[in-house]
Amino acid sequence: MIEIKSFVNDKFISGTKSQELIDANSSVPVASFAHISDSEVQNCISYAKSVGNPTLRALTIHQRALLLKQLGLALLEQKETLYKVSTYTGATRADSWVDIEGGIGTMLSISSIARRELPDQPFITEGNLETLSKSGSFVARHILTPKTGVAVHINAFNFPIWGMLEKFAPTFIAGVPSIIKPATQTSYLTFALMKLIQEVNCLPKGSLSLLIGNIHSLLDHLDGQDTVTFTGSASTAKTIASNQNLIHHNVKINKEADSLNAIVFGESARPGTVAFSLGVKEVLRELTAKAGQKCTAIRRVIIHEDFVKPFQTELEQQLQRVQIAPAGYQVEKGKVHLGPLVSLTQRREVQEQVALLRQSADILIQSPITVIEGSEDKGGFMAPVVLIAKNPEASELHSIEAFGPVCTVIPYQNISQAIALTNKGEGSLVASIVSTQPEEQQQLTLGIAPYHGRLLLINELTAKESTGHGSPLAPLVHGGPGRAGGGEELGGVRSIKYYMQRTALQGTPTDLTSVTQEYYQGAITHEDIKHPFRKYFNELHIGDSLTTHKRTVTEADIVNFGCLTGDHFYAHFDETATASSLFGKRVAHGYYLVSMAAGLFVWPNLGPVLANYGMDNLRFIEPVGIGDTIQATITVKRKIEKPKKEGDNKKTGVVVWYVQLFNQHSVLVAMYDILTLVQINENI
Ligand code: NAP
Repeated sequence: MIEIKSFVNDKFISGTKSQELIDANSSVPVASFAHISDSEVQNCISYAKSVGNPTLRALTIHQRALLLKQLGLALLEQKETLYKVSTYTGATRADSWVDIEGGIGTMLSISSIARRELPDQPFITEGNLETLSKSGSFVARHILTPKTGVAVHINAFNFPIWGMLEKFAPTFIAGVPSIIKPATQTSYLTFALMKLIQEVNCLPKGSLSLLIGNIHSLLDHLDGQDTVTFTGSASTAKTIASNQNLIHHNVKINKEADSLNAIVFGESARPGTVAFSLGVKEVLRELTAKAGQKCTAIRRVIIHEDFVKPFQTELEQQLQRVQIAPAGYQVEKGKVHLGPLVSLTQRREVQEQVALLRQSADILIQSPITVIEGSEDKGGFMAPVVLIAKNPEASELHSIEAFGPVCTVIPYQNISQAIALTNKGEGSLVASIVSTQPEEQQQLTLGIAPYHGRLLLINELTAKESTGHGSPLAPLVHGGPGRAGGGEELGGVRSIKYYMQRTALQGTPTDLTSVTQEYYQGAITHEDIKHPFRKYFNELHIGDSLTTHKRTVTEADIVNFGCLTGDHFYAHFDETATASSLFGKRVAHGYYLVSMAAGLFVWPNLGPVLANYGMDNLRFIEPVGIGDTIQATITVKRKIEKPKKEGDNKKTGVVVWYVQLFNQHSVLVAMYDILTLVQINENI
């Protein structure tokens, strides 16, 4: 028996009156817990705010992300411990993979996205510099700083690990502590994860807490610096959102609730085509994965009325591969393992929802329930149920979520009706479109996209590497409008920014440069006798600048560059064509100017600048003709220190230089950023 405890103030604690939790496969008790007291819940908030938050916000985004990487890699080594506990939830090996490795993988992805796309600073700058005055002396930029509160994550029972990690990871990287409240009935798995996290022992104090069972007055003690995320049923979402304290303090709430996700077979996805069969297989997968207890599972199959019979035949064939068995059972190769629902109560609820759906639908397919090595009376086993709409417009079909292996086939007569029926779900997390015809694919996409957070296009070509209908991915938005809760999770850096405050910062370019540690045009620069390419990473400062000598562009330059590269575009070589062109004269190749500028500003000898890393934001502003004279300035715009990896003999950083090219009239003709790898002098 697992004794589950809450993790509060960096200690595992428990209450007094114990309650049991059962194994989904057999209804045998497997874990027990006791609710902690209200004052301990309140202590948890103040500890996270007073200890966790300041510690986290003092770290840079990269430091936080690296801690998560360390944690994720260590957890992967211990994953079998989690798989073992996961079977109690009824999750098969494949179901648990999504929860356990999917959850840890999502955390690692968020860590990597943060290190790739965000600066190594405690805050984020966002968007372009906005010029607010004629001369450019008054400018603005948005910055995002970590909120000073906590994030409370209230999760559903179906993904005890993924649900926690996909929210904890972006919150942690944002610099905000998390308080996790898992659904009680599967909380033994979240507790098992928390124990492993504690053993890894790499997280700063107060950055992660776990509340098992009753959260008492938790929501009554939050304020505008706190965030609540909720995943679960629409009715609980409403209860939470109507909490008077949350309303009073305008606490930000992200809701992920019920979703009547659809798969839409276009008219082009005819029976007998590969696309049609792929669509049928997707339905099978969504009926059986996690026994249909997935927020993203397909609940509605929107299909042309002429295709219903072939769909039924093909799905019936596919369903013959399904074996209903306890979570730990090894099904035969080629068979599909369908485990039990989380409890007998959950199965009863699903059956009640099916009964409600049956007011507007008949049974199309009812597979026989044959449980291998288990008892239907003891475990939440349930055979897949496929319904067929009597009236496609009936509102129950588009609003009742049977959270199990259940879906309804809803026939349409034309594509416009297919779109209207899909949108009757009033907002879903995801829909799949099966289509082989580009115009139809576009019509369906544009027709249903406003009602969905994610769309998967299924056909023969996408099938090879598709991640499938049911998988939310770290770089992509997970959430949906309307019935789906109106929330947004994941989506790369968006998920991190959710826990931060966006502030428009106005001032002079120099003020903004000093606050954000990024050079903006017009800010004060510093020139030095020593060439900046002769300086180590840690000797360079934001705003350090070099103005080069000058060089006049000759016809020989243009001809030589054209011959060297083979670029004989008319603008560089054809005197007659250019006369009537927008240039009015022969001009130098843009890439020649960029190359020539490098010749102006590089320091040729071996020095701290090790390599050219790349170029961003290149713009050619004015044409440069024969006889024009060019001068370059380069300025240190940003510095990104790189962590020293095993095998690196030198510590390095990336320096982003802002390059401007001017002509003899001091007119800006080109600008861009170059990125160089610069050595760090560890002795300075
Ligand atoms: P639920 O009953 O609504 O519970 C969700 C969470 O809310 C649990 O942690 C629960 O704790 C907690 N809770 C219940 N009442 C509360 C209250 N008054 N104040 C604060 N917290 C409260 O949902 P579920 O049965 O676990 O999950 C199934 C539902 O979740 C389905 O409808 C499914 O569609 C939805 N879901 C949606 C998504 C999505 O991303 N959109 C993902 C997964 C699941 P206790 O367990 O202690 O009651």
